[in-house]
Amino acid sequence: MMQDFVIKEIEAAVGRDNVLTRWEERWCYAYDATDLAQAPEAVVFPGSAQEISKVLRLANRHGFAVTPRGAGTGRTGGAVPVAGGVVLVLTRMNRILEINAADMLAVVEPGVITGHLKTAVEEQGLYYPPDPSSADYCTIGGNVAECAGGAVAVQYGVTRDYVLGLTVVLPTGEIIDAGARTMKGVVGYDLTRLFLGSEGTLGVITRIILRLAPKPGARQTLAAAFPNLKAATEAVGLILRAGLAPTALEFMDRATLNCVRQMLPFKVPPQVAALLLLAVDGHRREVAERAAAMARFCREQGARPVMRAKTAPEAESFWRARRAISPALFKVKPQKVSEDVAVPLSAIPELVGRLEQISRHRGLPILCYGHAGDGNIHINVMYDHNIPQEQEAVGPAVKDLFALVRQLKGTLSGEHGVGLTKAPYLGLELSQEAIALQKRIKKAFDPNNIMNPGKIFPGGGS
Ligand SMILES: Cc1cc2nc3c(=O)[nH]c(=O)nc-3n(C[C@H](O)[C@H](O)[C@H](O)COP(=O)(O)OP(=O)(O)OC[C@H]3O[C@@H](n4cnc5c(N)ncnc54)[C@H](O)[C@@H]3O)c2cc1C
Repeated sequence: MMQDFVIKEIEAAVGRDNVLTRWEERWCYAYDATDLAQAPEAVVFPGSAQEISKVLRLANRHGFAVTPRGAGTGRTGGAVPVAGGVVLVLTRMNRILEINAADMLAVVEPGVITGHLKTAVEEQGLYYPPDPSSADYCTIGGNVAECAGGAVAVQYGVTRDYVLGLTVVLPTGEIIDAGARTMKGVVGYDLTRLFLGSEGTLGVITRIILRLAPKPGARQTLAAAFPNLKAATEAVGLILRAGLAPTALEFMDRATLNCVRQMLPFKVPPQVAALLLLAVDGHRREVAERAAAMARFCREQGARPVMRAKTAPEAESFWRARRAISPALFKVKPQKVSEDVAVPLSAIPELVGRLEQISRHRGLPILCYGHAGDGNIHINVMYDHNIPQEQEAVGPAVKDLFALVRQLKGTLSGEHGVGLTKAPYLGLELSQEAIALQKRIKKAFDPNNIMNPGKIFPGGGS
């Protein structure tokens, strides 16, 4: 338990109004988007890097853990304070400090909601491409800490590709800048990239310099319905190899489609086994032509029907349905384990095709959808935790899935990170030598293991 005098020192560092210690308040910051939860001993809302530095120095002196938190939408338990201590909530630091059209960059604090930044830069004719489906409520800081992806990554890349520089408070309290305001920069080790996807274990990100793109002149959205899974999943690689350059190439299987069917702006025939959702963007003149070529190509691969959104609101309702998939899956079962594996493009048909086997063998429904253009498929093992055989079958089903993914030369996580949920499986992908090196890096940054302990590494970071 944190002693009263320690809480008082934290209050002196950030202001009394910015510290919560009551039981019911602490529980509001115990969870993320997994079903894991543990209450911290205090919740702290810093207003600046200097205040964070003071809290981290106190953590080293008194030996309490600090878990950074953005909006708590993470899917692997990253913001769950398993070691107790302090949850450091970055939502007060939510200013867009600069949108510089001439230099095509923005400078933001970590608590800015991703969707707010996207809207603000679009008002200036610019575009911040990364678009996790949670963009309406997750934070940029959380996106950097997880290296979030999203639907348009197939054309534009992921968060990593837009971060030029960072200000970070190191676990020992020093404040450092990494990167630059320039598009290029190779001075010293690339610490910016090291912090990207570091899941709040190497420091607290307090300022982010983001590269911006020009706002596309137009975008068209299509949905291609396939009569079988094989044709749909094989079409993914064929579309990319044909040079049709989709901006987004999303996939959903029949069971997923059934969960959001009512939200789609058109009727999907019942015999449809899978849907590809595609977008193309660019100059107004060429977009219509490219969308027509894409539709033609999908028909040649057996898609019937191929539907094109006629208006912007119609296109938005396609994407709204896509963003609603994750919560809509609870129509099938009250609990799910969501994995976000990624495999090489050629392995997508086999990955998706063999899920049926795992589902039958373990007696659990498995639904899949996701960013197929990146080989990043969200695979959801559905269960009811009140049914003992279902609860017991979940772990083995996830193990079967991970074994299959590694056999197909894929990765355990395309965008959600390791956190708590994937830590036990780290050794399936990384060698003991690679894990040992990563632990030495962690130790160099955080000798007392106060920053988000218990995450990424099985058994902790030290
Ligand atoms: C419905 C839904 C859809 C989603 N869709 C996508 C998707 O399409 N693509 C995708 O990539 N993810 C997706 N996610 C996952 C999630 O939204 C992302 O991982 C997001 O980046 C988390 O942001 P957050 O602000 O909620 O971070 P949190 O959950 O609060 O934290 C996530 C991790 O980042 C660390 N962290 C947070 N802020 C900081 C900081 N300032 N400094 C250091 N560390 C920090 C935390 O310690 C934790 O380890 C989805 C989640 C949901 C619920």
